Amino acid sequence: MWHEADPVRWKREQAIASKLLGDFESGIDSNRTAYIRGTFNVYSEHGHLYESARLRIEYPKTFPVRNQPPSVYLESHRDRWKNSGDSHIESDWRLCLFVPGESGIDFSSPTSLNDLFAVIYTFLLKQRIYQKRLAKTLITGDVAKWPGEDRSHGEQGIREAIRAMGSVGRNAPCPCGSGLKYKKCHMRKFDRR
Ligand SMILES: [Zn+2]
Repeated sequence: MWHEADPVRWKREQAIASKLLGDFESGIDSNRTAYIRGTFNVYSEHGHLYESARLRIEYPKTFPVRNQPPSVYLESHRDRWKNSGDSHIESDWRLCLFVPGESGIDFSSPTSLNDLFAVIYTFLLKQRIYQKRLAKTLITGDVAKWPGEDRSHGEQGIREAIRAMGSVGRNAPCPCGSGLKYKKCHMRKFDRR
């Protein structure tokens, strides 16, 4: 497990998160997955508190090998927000923050968690707008649109991102964030089409 192999990095992750999260909590769960939990506040430009989201961040067992990002789950809002349509929230409430290869975040950097929180911040601001639009569609019947640019959801979005990158080295980490080499992951999936 990465947190056993690199306790310094694991400590660093916890130190960064403890500054940014209220009710900060961290540990190793029964699957031996290192996790961080806490309340993340999103403020308006005028400093009003927009949302308080409860997050759980789970680290892949081989973190940060081949730039595989942590998974971020939304633990709050499940009674108010919908994880359907264009919401970029998976059925298990994992936030679909980016196609990892496109995120611009180097997870081998010891301060990458700051960058991840910056992405989460923007994501939650947009999610808030989207969820308002979604609630409105129940009345108007319009289709709710995600605010701003985005990739398609899931597998389709990964393919769009890889196409947009032009070329990916065979031995480079797959842009989907699986932690596998490109040739062992999406390069095969593309070949099969
Ligand atoms: Zn892949």
